Amino acid sequence: MAFPVPTSLSPSRVDAFTSCPLAFRFASIDKLPEPPSPHTTKGSLVHRALELLFCEPPAQRSIEVALTALDRAVTEFQSDPEFRLLGLDDDAQRAFVDEAELLVRRYFTMEDPTRVRDIGLELRLEAQVGSLTLRGIIDRLELDDDGGLVVTDYKTGKPPRERHEQGRLAGVHFYAFLCQEVFGRRPSRIQLMYLSTGEIIEARPTAQSVQFLPKRTQAVWTAVERACAAGEFKPRSGPLCAWCSFKPWCPAFGGDPERAAAEAPAAFGHLVPVA
Ligand code: SF4
Repeated sequence: MAFPVPTSLSPSRVDAFTSCPLAFRFASIDKLPEPPSPHTTKGSLVHRALELLFCEPPAQRSIEVALTALDRAVTEFQSDPEFRLLGLDDDAQRAFVDEAELLVRRYFTMEDPTRVRDIGLELRLEAQVGSLTLRGIIDRLELDDDGGLVVTDYKTGKPPRERHEQGRLAGVHFYAFLCQEVFGRRPSRIQLMYLSTGEIIEARPTAQSVQFLPKRTQAVWTAVERACAAGEFKPRSGPLCAWCSFKPWCPAFGGDPERAAAEAPAAFGHLVPVA
């Protein structure tokens, strides 16, 4: 059975095909819901608090204002279905918010937000690579002292070990590509701010690194189109299986992929599949 080819995706979703074609199919073609994770939801909460902080004039970006922003973000999230699906009781919710507060406080040890010349927050950008529209959200875009563009990506997980660093930066080069396509300028710097440790990983994109991205994406996308036409998305088991939400329907673990669409929403507590 042939599958419809998606027309727009984030680069991480495209990369997911190379990790496991079947997991890619479940997430990006069947669009199966996945259970919310406290880690991802906490990351979204901290991103929202920092976005609200940067909505304030630079001189007013104090830690007290950031904590007020976090309170507001918590109020917003309490009505969010993803947050409610976590099923946190009062104690667990308090611990969850305390951990988010630690991340917000650590941000202030990494840079002085009153000196940041931001020109965009949570920017939704898209660019065309062949028949595919690549979409991405830039946490923060700013200007450096020389007027160059700087892309900042907040991370709430652990920083990569050194040998995996370039892999993480591959995602960031995508943001450089987006900036070049949308604004006609390559960023002079990209920084990943790891709020869990206070570490900052920086990259300076080159013309070569930016040009490489659409070539690689196009190559992966050709493989996706072939898999859709042939209706063949094979499981590729590996370390990621330990965190895969779709394991109950994976033939590598004795499951039946064709039952996933009917069973996953109820299994994960969703009433309807999330697009
Ligand atoms: S369990 Fe492993 S092999 Fe199966 S779909 Fe998930 S990642 Fe792929």
